[in-house]
Amino acid sequence: MIFNIITLFPEFFKGFIENTIISRAVRKGIVGINLINCRDFTEDRYKSCDDYTYGGGAGMILRAGPLAGALDSIQVKGNKIIYPTPSGRLYTQERAKEYSKEECIVIICGRYEGIDQRIVDLYSPDEISIGDYIISGGEPAACVIMDSIIRLLKGVIKEESLREESFNNGLLEYPQYTRPEIFKGLRVPAVLLSGHHENIRKWRLKKSIEKTIMMRPDLLDQVIDDSEVSSEIKEIVNNIIEEGEENGFNKSN
Ligand code: SAM
Repeated sequence: MIFNIITLFPEFFKGFIENTIISRAVRKGIVGINLINCRDFTEDRYKSCDDYTYGGGAGMILRAGPLAGALDSIQVKGNKIIYPTPSGRLYTQERAKEYSKEECIVIICGRYEGIDQRIVDLYSPDEISIGDYIISGGEPAACVIMDSIIRLLKGVIKEESLREESFNNGLLEYPQYTRPEIFKGLRVPAVLLSGHHENIRKWRLKKSIEKTIMMRPDLLDQVIDDSEVSSEIKEIVNNIIEEGEENGFNKSN
């Protein structure tokens, strides 16, 4: 898979590309990352990429010309184009899975107050938000999106590791422990030391469901509504909710 990243700050990505998982994926030829500096597509001697926004208001935005020049310099036709923006659709693991099937992805990194709307109108990127908060530039968002996609590509990390992760079955991951068995008086749950695989699986599933109820009840509602979710999960959910209600707890607490 090829990523073409359009940015004013190519040097921002150095640490990201040198990170173990990403650099291994690049070395193995699974991923290629091209950094395209939109300053290379300016016409003035100051190489300016930003300007004031029509209608007034604080801050500058990225001009359409250099961004369009950068986009046209690569074969964008048929490629998935993403513009990370807080006003986009919320990024999810499902979306990362969809993107992992693409051959070439272009990411436009915004800066300042954003980009000229005509880039969105002309190139129809997916407008994607990485969360309900504002960061100063699209570069960290591009790293989040790339990382989440790259780790799903075959040969990057063990498939077994992906299977057990949060969101994979619609639930959050169960708690995990490593040595020592007792740390500051806290013991690792006995079931995890028992070697009994079926009991460990059941304990993990229950903990996973409890955590989802506590942290992300919105996810749990989707799990319960999903007809493909196993009756085992539905039964555990109902038991936990019933037990909780007996103790004065309800799912919206
Ligand atoms: N004025 C914009 C607004 O209110 O929506 C915010 C601009 S932000 C300071 C600059 C750039 O950072 C954006 O163009 C976008 O590329 C990136 N950015 C900021 N927050 C983001 C988020 N939550 N998700 C994705 N990208 C984000």
